[in-house]
Amino acid sequence: MLACVIKGPTFEKAKEQIEKALKYADALEFRWDYFEEIAIDKIKALIKDIDVAVIFTLRKKSQGGAFDQEEEKRLSIIEDLLQTEPDYIDLEFDVPTRFLESVRDNYPKVQIIISYHNFTETPQDLEALFKEIQKPILVHYKIATTAQSSIDLLRMMHFIKKKQKEVLITGITMGECGEPMRVLGKVLGNAFDYASCEKEDTQLHQVDLKTLHNIYHYLHLNKDTRMYALLGDPVDKSKGHIFHNDYFQRHKMNAVYVKLKVTKEELPSFFKELTDLAFDGFSVTMPLKETVMKELDHVDSDAGRIGAVNTLVRREDIWFGFNTDAPAALDAAEEKGSVRGKKVVILGAGGAARAIAYEALKRGASVFILNRTEEKAKLLAESLGCQGYGMDKMSQVAKEGYDVLINTTSVGMDSDELPLEKEYILPNTVVMDAIYNPMNTPLLIYSKDIAKDLVFGFEMFERQAVLQQTLWDQRP
Ligand code: NAP
Repeated sequence: MLACVIKGPTFEKAKEQIEKALKYADALEFRWDYFEEIAIDKIKALIKDIDVAVIFTLRKKSQGGAFDQEEEKRLSIIEDLLQTEPDYIDLEFDVPTRFLESVRDNYPKVQIIISYHNFTETPQDLEALFKEIQKPILVHYKIATTAQSSIDLLRMMHFIKKKQKEVLITGITMGECGEPMRVLGKVLGNAFDYASCEKEDTQLHQVDLKTLHNIYHYLHLNKDTRMYALLGDPVDKSKGHIFHNDYFQRHKMNAVYVKLKVTKEELPSFFKELTDLAFDGFSVTMPLKETVMKELDHVDSDAGRIGAVNTLVRREDIWFGFNTDAPAALDAAEEKGSVRGKKVVILGAGGAARAIAYEALKRGASVFILNRTEEKAKLLAESLGCQGYGMDKMSQVAKEGYDVLINTTSVGMDSDELPLEKEYILPNTVVMDAIYNPMNTPLLIYSKDIAKDLVFGFEMFERQAVLQQTLWDQRP
């Protein structure tokens, strides 16, 4: 069930939030601890016509709530709230047992959710934690912890996948690394998923209702949904989740794509924790494209020669690695004409340059790599069998002429700078930028009136993503 959190703080605001929430949510959680007043008559009037499940919560400060008066006062307000007979009442795991029993006995129609919040970590032994908070009476459970890494997230996923077979349970991981649990809860068997009404910038990393529906197609997710993700650090700026979830939706595939922040150091433990979770494939971005190869069972021969993978496919628990950046970049460039026999100048000597140079050579181009750090250009060129120089060589390269210019540096991503001197952009050439965000980079804007053709970074991005989909789809 998808619960939207209603925080007020006024009844007027709450009405607006309810109206928005009811377009998508199957439940409303009223967080009375955020309200300016708790007036039972107004509450009755507010919930009177609501025909989705209603959860009441009056969370104390020590469990992350906003209610900071004495415990006795809080329990007495909860008693008052119960008189309005919400469908659920959320009570912290440490409320006195006699209070819990009185709620059960006096309000048999109200279901109890026992909640646990940890704002610092995800305890190592979640099973032991569950035993600690478990109650002898029939209740739902909600365990919200803080994910310090994606490994904590995977541990929570395992725990929920197993525990939901025994009890009604909701697992939440807070923090940036925990955010995917907000999307995947339904796939793993969460009793509830909690969404915010609007986009919020808090340490909870709750996902808002619109994003859950419009980007992740939450309604269509179920326990058979296959999971895919982007691995990298950072991943927050990537648009991959928009492209891939839209692709799954358009192709009627029961799959979802999230973003997992994973560092190089975490990779070995990350792959160990994956075991029986239904992740069928990953996209890989900086800084993992090379390091992740150590974790794979098979690396495709082109990717092996490039020395980097950006696509992982899991087939019967065997991990395969591919590089779709390389063909995607050249497919995009060759929309403007074959590169065979052409002179291709690549600016930059990082991962993207390596993939693009490899593929351009494979397709018969003569390749010149120019980079700010000359040594890196030379090393890369030597390993691929082409020419590599520092940027100071650009005047001569331009003088001799070239056919295709490809920027693979990050210059222009968040500045107005060009990656080369203006006069070296030549007429009758194809100019391409690997940067896809922004779409119109300074290089492409400036080249518009000079070059014969432009190739945008998104053309490469979309092609590499479609190639990833094709590889993921070839599952046995
Ligand atoms: P990378 O391995 O970190 O390489 C970055 C390159 O940029 C290096 O050659 C570096 O030169 C150069 N550079 C960085 N800052 C510079 C500056 N201020 N002046 C001059 N050169 C500078 O990164 P990557 O993985 O190759 O990615 C490079 C770009 O390609 C990124 O913008 C990325 O978004 C884009 N990309 C796009 C796609 C797509 O699908 N469209 C796919 C992959 C990558 P030094 O060696 O001197 O440090």
